[in-house]
Formats: sequence, C-alpha cells, structure tokens
Amino acid sequence: MSIWVLRGLRDGVVTTRWPRRPDEYAGSWRGPVTVQPGTAAWPDAAALCPAGAIEASGQVRVDQGKCILCGRCVTARPDVFAWSAGATGPRAAALARQALVVPAAPETDEAIAAARTALAGRTAALRRSIHVRHVDAGSDGSEEWEIQALLGPVYDIGRLGVFLTASPRHADVLLVTGAGTPGMAGPLRETYEGMPDPKVVIAVGTDAVSGGLLGDRLTGVAGAVPVDVWLPGSPPSPFGILNALLIAVGKLS
Ligand code: SF4
Repeated sequence: MSIWVLRGLRDGVVTTRWPRRPDEYAGSWRGPVTVQPGTAAWPDAAALCPAGAIEASGQVRVDQGKCILCGRCVTARPDVFAWSAGATGPRAAALARQALVVPAAPETDEAIAAARTALAGRTAALRRSIHVRHVDAGSDGSEEWEIQALLGPVYDIGRLGVFLTASPRHADVLLVTGAGTPGMAGPLRETYEGMPDPKVVIAVGTDAVSGGLLGDRLTGVAGAVPVDVWLPGSPPSPFGILNALLIAVGKLS
C-alpha cells in the first residue's frame, strides 16, 4: 500500500469546511492592523509606520490597504493599535478602497452599499462555479504561495466551485497580485479585455492594493484594470483570498 494511502487513512479528511462552518485555524490568522476604540488624537503616530499606512492629521486612522503587517505600531503602542483577528482577520476584503481605512469615515457605508449593488447586478450569472485567471503584476511571490495553497487538500477550492484557468477567455474572475509594474500594465489590460462579461477583478495583497512599500513609485493595479474587491495583507491568508473570491461572485455578503 502506498505511503499516501496510509497517510490518508491516518489523517482522515483535512479539508476545511470554512466559511460554511467555523475553523479555528482561520481565526488564528493575523489580519491587518486596526485602531483601538477611544484612541485620542496623536499627531506623531504616523512616524511609527514605514509604509505610510497611519494617518494622524486628525483622528488616528490606519489605511489597511497600505499596511504590510510589519507589527511596529502594535509592538510600540498596543494601547492604540491591534491586529484584527478572529472573524475579521480572514475577512479583510472590501468592496470599496476607502473601506480599508479604519476607523471608517462616515461616507464609507454608502460607498460600500453602492459597490455591492453594482457588483451583484453584474455577477448574478456567476453563482454556480467560477473560473479564475491569475496575473502577477510585479509580485514578490508571497501571494502566489497562498494562491497555490488554495489548490491543496486543506482549502480545496474546487469544493466551492472555484477553479483556476490558464486562459482569459474562460475566466470570470481576474486575480491580480503585485505592485503594478509599468511593464505589466499592458499584459494586464489585455488579459482583462480578453475576458468575457461579466467579469470581476480582485486586487490580492497590499502591493496590488496600494503599491505597498513601493507606494512612492508604484500605486497598485487599479490604474491598469478596474478593481472590484480589495484584499489587503502582505500576504493575505488563503482564507482571505477565498473570502474575497466568494464576495466577488456574490456567494458571501
Ligand atoms: S503593522 Fe506596520 S505597516 Fe501596518 S500600520 Fe503598523 S507600522 Fe504600519
């Protein structure tokens, strides 16, 4: 009997049931930084962050779309900053770029509601199964490892009707990683234009959302393709990517 059969008998089913059922492992992943409730104004807070994610001109806010999860702010001031964890860690994806700024500005709810309605109208036909084309637009490779993990037995995205495809012609969802290098803008746009309608774009990782640490020179992928779902993280967890995929096609709210 092969070793793989023996391992299968020993380990049993390792595939997560998340998000249909809670998963302790999903809750243990660190999400982007949040600001503790009741934090007073603190003009020097921005100096803590090497990525420019902390805004402190008035109320202290964190732009999770720029956060590279380095932990400097949480280590220095745990009374002000904290990791989002538990249910919010893997559910960091947002339907509007400004929704990644926490605490949220008053107009954010309206922007999310408008984005949700528009996306639902476009993706109503994508409920059963979806095919996903991944494009690396200047990634450091970390997001690619997490995307690959989705194909393994633990996450097994096929159980949810999600499949990777090599051809844009067969794709419903464009998964983009990387900070948006100029050389990849053309190929990325061509891939998007080659996909049939309706189509959805997910920016995966802080680099794709904002350029990350290269934010003074590169601004993410939104300049090349219209982003529908923004997923911060450096890199985001496989649970986070799975969550963003399901939000994108209307299987999760
Ligand atoms: S974890 Fe690092 S990148 Fe994120 S807000 Fe804190 S200091 Fe900035």
